[in-house]
Amino acid sequence: MIKEPSPSTARRFVGRVCLVTGAAGGIGSAIARRLADEGALVQVADLDADACARVAEEIVLAGGRAEARPFDLTDPDACVAAVEEMITAHGGLDVVVNNAGINRRGALLELGPDDWSATFAVNVDAMVHLCRAVLPAMISAGQGAIVNTASQWGLSPAPGHVAYNASKAAVVSFTQSLARDYAPAGVRVNAVCPGEIFTPMLAGNLARSGRTKADLDALVPYGRVGYPEEVAALVAFLASDEAPYLCGAAVEITGAQAVA
Ligand code: NAD
Repeated sequence: MIKEPSPSTARRFVGRVCLVTGAAGGIGSAIARRLADEGALVQVADLDADACARVAEEIVLAGGRAEARPFDLTDPDACVAAVEEMITAHGGLDVVVNNAGINRRGALLELGPDDWSATFAVNVDAMVHLCRAVLPAMISAGQGAIVNTASQWGLSPAPGHVAYNASKAAVVSFTQSLARDYAPAGVRVNAVCPGEIFTPMLAGNLARSGRTKADLDALVPYGRVGYPEEVAALVAFLASDEAPYLCGAAVEITGAQAVA
């Protein structure tokens, strides 16, 4: 029987401060909501200040705790300043979810002049800046969880997406490297590797191409595409105290769909 995602009643993040980047987007907003539902004070980070404020407000209206933290992840100084501001305001950051990402499509000879560097600036460099900024506080706290949103395509590349695939492979390797180096300090670092997830953007693309969600569902062995809430549930598990021995994992969430 194909099941739909169900809401959680867990409260694993009470008293924790959790930063989520790309938190105005399809998957990021679901992660922000999930962590807030479980008791976290969520730092809603995104480039889009209005969308950041909207997501934070929605969480607060639903009875959760959230603050909008708009900044540009491609600006290394802004990344460091934002983390320092959050740590100063709240005494630390317990969880960082590096989720923001962009996808510049194309084979190498089809990419525009800045497609490679723009992709790596958001998908890889921003994650590095944020981790570098937050690690000292996590190490001195003797604990912390970092969850990076990679992609199934970081493990098994899809055709025609060279920059995106390579950037997500870098996310996986960075995650494993960081986990090895900082597990002794009590900091756990893991990655999620989603397959195709039914975000508002994907719904829009479908509508434009004349295909339906049922067309996509039919391609997945489990019988349907994944939902942002399901990625959020996995991120919450990896970031929680229920996963103390998970360090350096890159967990696929794909409904068993192989990369075509
Ligand atoms: P999305 O476009 O809905 O959200 C991405 C968010 O990142 C946006 O809100 C955007 O404003 C933000 N962002 C982009 N550049 C930024 C910058 N310079 N500074 C700050 N914020 C910035 O995308 P999504 O589908 O929710 O994807 C979220 C993550 O999941 C990405 O890392 C993506 O690569 C990954 N992913 C998505 C899918 C999928 O099917 N949707 C599959 C695998 C992996």
